[in-house]
Amino acid sequence: MEFKGKNVLITGGTKGIGQHIANAFYSHGAKVIVLGTNSKRINDINLKNNADFVAVKCDFTDKNFIKDLSSQLDQYKTIDVLINNAGINKIDNFIETKDKDYHNIHSVNLYAPYQISKLIVHKMLNNNFGRIINISSIFGKLSKEKRSLYSMSKFGLHGLTVALAAELSKKGILTNTVSPGFINTDLTRKILSKKEMNDLSKSVPIGRFGDPEEIASIILFLASEKNTYITGQNIMIDGGFSIV
Ligand code: NAP
Repeated sequence: MEFKGKNVLITGGTKGIGQHIANAFYSHGAKVIVLGTNSKRINDINLKNNADFVAVKCDFTDKNFIKDLSSQLDQYKTIDVLINNAGINKIDNFIETKDKDYHNIHSVNLYAPYQISKLIVHKMLNNNFGRIINISSIFGKLSKEKRSLYSMSKFGLHGLTVALAAELSKKGILTNTVSPGFINTDLTRKILSKKEMNDLSKSVPIGRFGDPEEIASIILFLASEKNTYITGQNIMIDGGFSIV
Protein backbone atom coordinates (compact mmCIF):
# COMPACT_ATOMS: atom_id res chain seq x y z
CA MET A 1 0.00 0.00 0.00
CA GLU A 2 1.42 3.33 -1.05
CA PHE A 3 0.42 6.63 0.57
CA LYS A 4 3.07 8.92 -0.91
CA GLY A 5 1.53 12.36 -1.50
CA LYS A 6 -1.43 11.64 0.80
CA ASN A 7 -2.23 13.65 3.94
CA VAL A 8 -3.63 11.57 6.79
CA LEU A 9 -5.26 13.03 9.92
CA ILE A 10 -5.49 10.72 12.94
CA THR A 11 -7.32 11.84 16.08
CA GLY A 12 -5.86 10.35 19.26
CA GLY A 13 -2.77 9.47 17.23
CA THR A 14 -0.41 10.34 20.07
CA LYS A 15 -0.59 6.99 21.85
CA GLY A 16 -2.18 3.54 21.96
CA ILE A 17 -3.84 2.16 18.84
CA GLY A 18 -3.81 5.59 17.15
CA GLN A 19 -0.03 5.81 17.46
CA HIS A 20 0.36 2.42 15.77
CA ILE A 21 -1.99 3.55 12.99
CA ALA A 22 0.00 6.79 12.56
CA ASN A 23 3.33 4.92 12.38
CA ALA A 24 1.89 2.50 9.81
CA PHE A 25 0.73 5.34 7.51
CA TYR A 26 4.05 7.16 7.93
CA SER A 27 6.06 4.08 7.08
CA HIS A 28 3.95 3.71 3.91
CA GLY A 29 4.86 7.22 2.72
CA ALA A 30 1.97 9.34 4.05
CA LYS A 31 2.25 12.76 5.60
CA VAL A 32 0.72 12.29 9.04
CA ILE A 33 -0.99 14.76 11.39
CA VAL A 34 -1.89 13.39 14.82
CA LEU A 35 -4.07 15.06 17.45
CA GLY A 36 -4.01 14.67 21.24
CA THR A 37 -4.28 16.68 24.43
CA ASN A 38 -1.07 15.90 26.29
CA SER A 39 1.40 18.77 25.72
CA LYS A 40 4.48 16.80 26.66
CA ARG A 41 3.63 13.99 24.27
CA ILE A 42 2.85 16.51 21.49
CA ASN A 43 6.21 18.25 22.01
CA ASP A 44 8.11 14.96 22.12
CA ILE A 45 6.53 13.84 18.83
CA ASN A 46 7.33 17.18 17.15
CA LEU A 47 10.93 17.15 18.40
CA LYS A 48 11.51 13.56 17.31
CA ASN A 49 9.97 13.85 13.83
CA ASN A 50 9.94 16.10 10.74
CA ALA A 51 7.33 18.06 8.78
CA ASP A 52 5.87 14.78 7.52
CA PHE A 53 4.84 13.69 11.02
CA VAL A 54 3.23 16.52 12.94
CA ALA A 55 1.40 16.51 16.28
CA VAL A 56 -1.22 19.16 17.06
CA LYS A 57 -2.74 19.83 20.47
CA CYS A 58 -6.52 19.70 20.43
CA ASP A 59 -8.91 18.91 23.27
CA PHE A 60 -12.33 17.78 22.05
CA THR A 61 -13.96 18.69 25.35
CA ASP A 62 -13.07 22.34 24.69
CA LYS A 63 -16.08 24.18 23.22
CA ASN A 64 -13.96 26.02 20.64
CA PHE A 65 -11.87 23.08 19.50
CA ILE A 66 -13.19 22.96 15.93
CA LYS A 67 -12.48 26.64 15.26
CA ASP A 68 -8.90 26.25 16.51
CA LEU A 69 -8.40 23.01 14.61
CA SER A 70 -9.83 24.50 11.43
CA SER A 71 -7.24 27.29 11.44
CA GLN A 72 -4.43 24.85 12.25
CA LEU A 73 -5.44 22.74 9.23
CA ASP A 74 -5.80 25.71 6.85
CA GLN A 75 -2.30 25.05 5.55
CA TYR A 76 -3.38 21.62 4.19
CA LYS A 77 -5.20 21.99 0.90
CA THR A 78 -6.34 18.41 1.09
CA ILE A 79 -6.74 15.76 3.71
CA ASP A 80 -7.09 12.44 1.92
CA VAL A 81 -7.67 10.16 4.90
CA LEU A 82 -9.37 10.88 8.22
CA ILE A 83 -9.16 8.38 11.07
CA ASN A 84 -11.55 9.27 13.90
CA ASN A 85 -9.75 7.19 16.51
CA ALA A 86 -9.74 9.20 19.77
CA GLY A 87 -12.03 7.62 22.32
CA ILE A 88 -12.65 7.58 26.04
CA ASN A 89 -14.65 5.32 28.34
CA LYS A 90 -16.10 5.37 31.81
CA ILE A 91 -17.38 2.17 33.33
CA ASP A 92 -20.39 2.69 35.62
CA ASN A 93 -23.71 1.11 36.55
CA PHE A 94 -26.35 2.77 34.38
CA ILE A 95 -28.20 4.38 37.30
CA GLU A 96 -24.95 5.86 38.62
CA THR A 97 -23.87 7.46 35.35
CA LYS A 98 -23.31 11.22 35.54
CA ASP A 99 -24.35 13.91 33.05
CA LYS A 100 -20.77 15.20 33.11
CA ASP A 101 -19.47 11.80 31.93
CA TYR A 102 -22.20 11.57 29.30
CA HIS A 103 -21.10 14.95 27.89
CA ASN A 104 -17.37 14.17 28.04
CA ILE A 105 -17.71 10.77 26.39
CA HIS A 106 -20.05 12.05 23.71
CA SER A 107 -17.85 15.11 23.07
CA VAL A 108 -14.82 12.94 22.34
CA ASN A 109 -16.41 9.79 20.87
CA LEU A 110 -19.23 11.27 18.77
CA TYR A 111 -19.41 15.08 18.56
CA ALA A 112 -15.73 15.46 17.60
CA PRO A 113 -15.96 12.88 14.76
CA TYR A 114 -19.08 14.70 13.49
CA GLN A 115 -17.42 18.13 13.57
CA ILE A 116 -14.06 16.97 12.22
CA SER A 117 -15.69 14.94 9.44
CA LYS A 118 -17.67 18.03 8.41
CA LEU A 119 -14.48 20.07 8.28
CA ILE A 120 -12.51 17.47 6.34
CA VAL A 121 -15.27 16.41 3.92
CA HIS A 122 -15.14 19.97 2.51
CA LYS A 123 -11.51 19.35 1.57
CA MET A 124 -12.21 15.82 0.29
CA LEU A 125 -15.06 17.02 -1.96
CA ASN A 126 -12.67 19.42 -3.75
CA ASN A 127 -10.52 16.42 -4.51
CA ASN A 128 -13.21 13.82 -5.36
CA PHE A 129 -11.38 11.44 -3.09
CA GLY A 130 -11.53 10.59 0.57
CA ARG A 131 -11.41 7.76 3.04
CA ILE A 132 -12.92 8.14 6.51
CA ILE A 133 -12.49 5.42 9.13
CA ASN A 134 -14.29 5.65 12.44
CA ILE A 135 -12.84 3.56 15.26
CA SER A 136 -15.63 2.03 17.28
CA SER A 137 -15.49 -1.09 19.46
CA ILE A 138 -17.14 -4.45 20.02
CA PHE A 139 -19.25 -2.38 22.45
CA GLY A 140 -20.51 -0.42 19.45
CA LYS A 141 -22.15 -3.60 18.15
CA LEU A 142 -23.09 -5.35 21.40
CA SER A 143 -22.90 -4.25 25.00
CA LYS A 144 -22.28 -5.40 28.51
CA GLU A 145 -23.07 -4.20 32.05
CA LYS A 146 -21.56 -0.82 32.94
CA ARG A 147 -20.91 0.13 29.31
CA SER A 148 -24.02 2.31 28.67
CA LEU A 149 -22.33 5.66 27.99
CA TYR A 150 -19.57 4.12 25.91
CA SER A 151 -21.95 1.90 23.90
CA MET A 152 -24.35 4.77 23.23
CA SER A 153 -21.51 6.85 21.77
CA LYS A 154 -19.98 4.01 19.75
CA PHE A 155 -23.34 2.83 18.31
CA GLY A 156 -23.86 6.48 17.29
CA LEU A 157 -20.46 6.61 15.66
CA HIS A 158 -21.40 3.77 13.31
CA GLY A 159 -24.56 5.75 12.52
CA LEU A 160 -22.29 8.54 11.31
CA THR A 161 -20.40 6.01 9.16
CA VAL A 162 -23.54 4.69 7.51
CA ALA A 163 -24.97 8.18 6.91
CA LEU A 164 -21.74 9.48 5.35
CA ALA A 165 -21.39 6.36 3.20
CA ALA A 166 -24.95 6.77 1.92
CA GLU A 167 -24.40 10.43 1.04
CA LEU A 168 -20.78 10.67 -0.07
CA SER A 169 -19.72 7.36 -1.63
CA LYS A 170 -20.71 8.56 -5.14
CA LYS A 171 -18.33 11.48 -4.63
CA GLY A 172 -15.36 9.21 -4.06
CA ILE A 173 -15.51 9.43 -0.26
CA LEU A 174 -15.76 5.96 1.29
CA THR A 175 -16.51 5.70 5.01
CA ASN A 176 -16.20 2.62 7.20
CA THR A 177 -16.15 1.69 10.87
CA VAL A 178 -13.43 -0.50 12.34
CA SER A 179 -14.37 -2.14 15.64
CA PRO A 180 -11.52 -3.59 17.67
CA GLY A 181 -12.09 -6.28 20.30
CA PHE A 182 -9.63 -6.83 23.15
CA ILE A 183 -6.36 -5.27 22.04
CA ASN A 184 -2.98 -5.63 23.69
CA THR A 185 -1.99 -2.01 24.35
CA ASP A 186 -0.01 -0.38 27.19
CA LEU A 187 -3.32 0.78 28.62
CA THR A 188 -4.85 -2.72 28.52
CA ARG A 189 -1.78 -4.14 30.27
CA LYS A 190 -2.02 -1.41 32.88
CA ILE A 191 -5.73 -1.98 33.58
CA LEU A 192 -5.85 -5.78 33.44
CA SER A 193 -3.71 -8.30 35.32
CA LYS A 194 -2.08 -11.18 33.41
CA LYS A 195 -4.68 -13.50 34.93
CA GLU A 196 -7.56 -11.26 33.79
CA MET A 197 -6.10 -11.12 30.29
CA ASN A 198 -5.76 -14.92 30.25
CA ASP A 199 -9.35 -15.37 31.44
CA LEU A 200 -10.71 -12.90 28.86
CA SER A 201 -8.68 -14.55 26.09
CA LYS A 202 -10.74 -17.71 26.68
CA SER A 203 -13.87 -15.86 25.51
CA VAL A 204 -12.22 -15.04 22.17
CA PRO A 205 -12.52 -17.78 19.49
CA ILE A 206 -8.97 -17.09 18.26
CA GLY A 207 -7.86 -17.48 21.89
CA ARG A 208 -5.81 -14.32 22.41
CA PHE A 209 -5.90 -10.53 22.48
CA GLY A 210 -5.30 -8.70 19.22
CA ASP A 211 -2.22 -6.61 18.46
CA PRO A 212 -2.52 -2.94 17.41
CA GLU A 213 -0.70 -3.83 14.16
CA GLU A 214 -3.60 -6.15 13.29
CA ILE A 215 -5.90 -3.11 13.46
CA ALA A 216 -3.50 -0.84 11.57
CA SER A 217 -3.07 -3.21 8.61
CA ILE A 218 -6.83 -3.41 7.92
CA ILE A 219 -7.11 0.37 8.23
CA LEU A 220 -4.30 0.85 5.69
CA PHE A 221 -6.26 -1.25 3.21
CA LEU A 222 -9.60 0.48 3.83
CA ALA A 223 -7.91 3.89 3.49
CA SER A 224 -6.04 3.04 0.32
CA GLU A 225 -6.94 3.41 -3.34
CA LYS A 226 -7.12 -0.40 -3.40
CA ASN A 227 -10.37 -0.15 -1.45
CA THR A 228 -12.76 0.68 -4.25
CA TYR A 229 -15.99 -1.00 -3.11
CA ILE A 230 -16.19 -1.23 0.70
CA THR A 231 -18.21 1.56 2.25
CA GLY A 232 -20.64 1.89 5.17
CA GLN A 233 -19.41 -1.32 6.80
CA ASN A 234 -18.53 -2.15 10.39
CA ILE A 235 -15.45 -4.37 10.27
CA MET A 236 -15.10 -6.31 13.52
CA ILE A 237 -11.44 -7.04 14.33
CA ASP A 238 -12.12 -9.05 17.45
CA GLY A 239 -10.81 -12.58 16.93
CA GLY A 240 -14.42 -13.71 16.56
CA PHE A 241 -15.56 -12.42 19.98
CA SER A 242 -18.78 -10.91 18.64
CA ILE A 243 -19.97 -14.08 16.86
CA VAL A 244 -20.16 -16.46 19.82
P1 NAP B 1 -5.74 5.42 24.43
O1 NAP B 1 -4.46 4.69 24.48
O2 NAP B 1 -6.37 5.84 25.73
O3 NAP B 1 -5.56 6.73 23.51
C1 NAP B 1 -6.62 7.63 23.34
C2 NAP B 1 -6.21 8.76 22.42
O4 NAP B 1 -7.29 9.69 22.39
C3 NAP B 1 -4.98 9.50 22.93
O5 NAP B 1 -4.17 9.91 21.85
C4 NAP B 1 -5.58 10.71 23.64
O6 NAP B 1 -4.72 11.83 23.61
C5 NAP B 1 -6.81 10.99 22.77
N1 NAP B 1 -7.81 11.71 23.57
C6 NAP B 1 -8.32 11.37 24.77
N2 NAP B 1 -9.14 12.34 25.24
C7 NAP B 1 -9.14 13.31 24.28
C8 NAP B 1 -9.78 14.59 24.17
N3 NAP B 1 -10.54 15.08 25.17
N4 NAP B 1 -9.56 15.34 23.08
C9 NAP B 1 -8.75 14.89 22.07
N5 NAP B 1 -8.12 13.69 22.11
C10 NAP B 1 -8.30 12.91 23.22
O7 NAP B 1 -6.88 4.61 23.65
P2 NAP B 1 -6.77 3.29 22.74
O8 NAP B 1 -6.92 2.14 23.65
O9 NAP B 1 -5.62 3.35 21.83
O10 NAP B 1 -8.14 3.41 21.91
C11 NAP B 1 -8.20 4.05 20.64
C12 NAP B 1 -9.61 3.85 20.08
O11 NAP B 1 -9.89 2.46 19.97
C13 NAP B 1 -10.71 4.44 20.98
O12 NAP B 1 -11.71 5.02 20.19
C14 NAP B 1 -11.23 3.23 21.73
O13 NAP B 1 -12.58 3.42 22.12
C15 NAP B 1 -11.09 2.15 20.68
N6 NAP B 1 -10.95 0.79 21.22
C16 NAP B 1 -9.87 0.43 21.98
C17 NAP B 1 -9.77 -0.89 22.43
C18 NAP B 1 -8.60 -1.37 23.25
O14 NAP B 1 -8.57 -2.54 23.64
N7 NAP B 1 -7.60 -0.56 23.53
C19 NAP B 1 -10.79 -1.81 22.12
C20 NAP B 1 -11.87 -1.39 21.36
C21 NAP B 1 -11.94 -0.09 20.90
P3 NAP B 1 -4.05 12.37 25.00
O15 NAP B 1 -3.60 11.19 25.77
O16 NAP B 1 -2.98 13.28 24.55
O17 NAP B 1 -5.18 13.08 25.67
